[in-house]
Amino acid sequence: MLSVLSEVGNASSVHGPGRKARGHVEDARDAVARLTGASPRGVIFTSGATEANVTALTRRWRQGKGEREFAALVTGATDHPSIVSGGRFPAEKHLTAPVDSNGIVDLEALEKLLKTIEGTALVSVMSVNNETGVVQPTKAIGDVVHAAGGVFHVDAVQAAGRIPVSIEDWDADAISVSAHKLGGPQGVGALVLKSSGLAPMPLLLGGGQENHRRAGTENVAAIAGFGVAAEAAVTHLNEYAGLQDLRTRLERELHQGFAGCVVFGESAQRVANTTCFAVPGVTAETALIACDLNGVAVSSGSACSSGKVGVSHVLTAMGVAEDLARCALRVSFGWKSAASDVTRFLEVWSGIAGRMATSGKGEAA
Ligand code: PLP
Repeated sequence: MLSVLSEVGNASSVHGPGRKARGHVEDARDAVARLTGASPRGVIFTSGATEANVTALTRRWRQGKGEREFAALVTGATDHPSIVSGGRFPAEKHLTAPVDSNGIVDLEALEKLLKTIEGTALVSVMSVNNETGVVQPTKAIGDVVHAAGGVFHVDAVQAAGRIPVSIEDWDADAISVSAHKLGGPQGVGALVLKSSGLAPMPLLLGGGQENHRRAGTENVAAIAGFGVAAEAAVTHLNEYAGLQDLRTRLERELHQGFAGCVVFGESAQRVANTTCFAVPGVTAETALIACDLNGVAVSSGSACSSGKVGVSHVLTAMGVAEDLARCALRVSFGWKSAASDVTRFLEVWSGIAGRMATSGKGEAA
């Protein structure tokens, strides 16, 4: 990325520096296509997955030489806010597919819901949840959507680089990915289409970049960084599963050390890097500040908006009581996390939880 930043070309220019910039973009497009099992022609670079999601979530899509209009949008109850907000669909055309206590979409309920819609639906369900790490049965969802004549979009942000991603195997029509979730830079992502014959109407109109599907001069250095990260994610995918041992130990010690500890989605298939747990009475808001003061960076399971910490819509959809949801803490491992990091977290966490339990107020003394 640093060497690309020192170059001056605009990827749309036909002169030498422009063609060099174009080369970086096309190399990255090939890498993102390999990451997602798609054709390079299907890759549209965006400013991130939020933009990719909002681009996909529109009523009007191009189909061949014509157009199709969806009667409704159906999204998973535990999806990311950029999906749950409904994109460019009117609110009254947006329905929610319910989930079970692990956050897995209820296939029968989805099938019934699709039958209530007059016309066809665009369905968007994430592949891996960003709060719990729970993996959805993406292929089975795709089959239900297509049997009902719908189009299937998958937010694969948390799956890419962690589990195999394949637009074909998932029976998906479009998927969104983001560079910064797989070690690349922030502010770049992609909407990946299975077929260039079925594409959402562009969100950004203007120049003809990205094959007239996303206007605006490409962020060449960021795209190049995305390409390198995508390549590495494919090459090192198997190493990622090794993080499971760290997570297993962390969860075992949490269960042993803290009565009533709940690990959300524990019995479901989950990606190796995420654990979301709660110990009753130990509020996440206070615990995570105390962790931070001790040099441990974790997240709350709660959604943060307007500076106020609310209860996570993911845990609410899974039927978790509000009191317990307020105690949900999310620990994510990185590629370089080691056993010593788990030991350190447990030391810090035990001290904090012990003090909060003694004070009896859910507050660290
Ligand atoms: N979807 C999921 C599941 C995410 O976890 C995120 C980011 O946290 C996004 C979408 C949004 O991605 P971006 O930050 O690239 O806009």
